[in-house]
Amino acid sequence: MRASSRIDTVAVRAGHHVAPDTGAITEPITMSVSFERDADGGHSRGYHYGAAGNPNRSALEHALAALEGGSEALTFASGSAAISAVLRTVLSPGAHVLLPRDVFQGTARLLVRLSEWGVDHDMVDMTSMDALIRAFRPNTALVWTETLSNPLLNVADIGAIASLAHRREAVHVVDNTFATPMFHQPLAFGADFVVHSSTKYLSGHGDVVGGNVILGDAAPHAGRLRELQWIDGAVPSPFDCWLTHRGLKTLPCRMRAHAANAARIAEFLAAHPQVIEVYYPGLAGSPSRTDAAALLGGYGGVVSFRVAGGRQGALRVAGAVELFRHATSLGSVDSLIQHQASAPTHGTGTALPDDLLRLSVGLEHADDLIDDLDQALNPC
Ligand SMILES: *Cc1c(COP(=O)(O)O)cnc(C)c1O
Repeated sequence: MRASSRIDTVAVRAGHHVAPDTGAITEPITMSVSFERDADGGHSRGYHYGAAGNPNRSALEHALAALEGGSEALTFASGSAAISAVLRTVLSPGAHVLLPRDVFQGTARLLVRLSEWGVDHDMVDMTSMDALIRAFRPNTALVWTETLSNPLLNVADIGAIASLAHRREAVHVVDNTFATPMFHQPLAFGADFVVHSSTKYLSGHGDVVGGNVILGDAAPHAGRLRELQWIDGAVPSPFDCWLTHRGLKTLPCRMRAHAANAARIAEFLAAHPQVIEVYYPGLAGSPSRTDAAALLGGYGGVVSFRVAGGRQGALRVAGAVELFRHATSLGSVDSLIQHQASAPTHGTGTALPDDLLRLSVGLEHADDLIDDLDQALNPC
């Protein structure tokens, strides 16, 4: 392995260049919408119009492709825009899609919309290869997987699912938002496309909404997807690209710290009398622990758990925390808590327990986070 190919080095350096005119080490932000043409009308410098391309977007796309080991990456104005672009590129009327039962709600909602255009879907337990095989139909064109599912943190065997999908001539897309390339690189296991909400860990600071698609070497329809990115216009601003690209520099450090904090919190919760069940694949005794250890380089920063007292009990805890913020989203340095059943993003299909809370464990000190959960869980 070349020294420059380790993930910490790739994260800090990929896509960054010293500016030839000023010597600036940190990438400048190029806000220009228009790019000057050559005397003969060409665009030898690579850009013509902001919706079609921008230097900050190119730099970010280069870094994302390097981190995931892909042939190219495309960035979008949100994770959902990236997901929508992949669905509309890969699927045509009459196609059938398989999704995890606890898939991100936005993905499920996009597929409900696509049913109006003649695309069907079924939700299956992606931790069971038998269930997945049984769910296949002759017209199954796409298998959608999340490396770590949201919010129950089920672990999918990406390699096994990719080979099954390919045997059945279906495309395999992996939403790698929760694991990030730090803990899993689905393209190396045979996935065709990886998608991310970079709103979460990739940007990492809760200040950018963004998304991206990374293509494997043999990903079909690459040209169509690139064209849709432009003609659809759901592209990120140069500043959002710059912020996300900056966030990537600390991704490996942040992910190690998120995971270390999450592991401590999961252990604390598992031993707490007010807690009914903890979902964290790194927890000793977790049903997905063996799979997770074989498949992932780490277990991420999200921990879900059920508390005593049903829906009211869960809402009380979410309202009683002081350090955790009671808000949606995940993947930021700030710790967040969310009551899943009452979240605005909750909706389609999946039945989650009413007493389920999801933590996005941030980078505050683990002891302070544990003290906060302890005071919120113990009504005096
Ligand atoms: C948040 C999220 C998305 C959607 O991303 P946005 O940037 O909010 O549009 C997709 N997949 C997963 C797993 C997510 O957590």
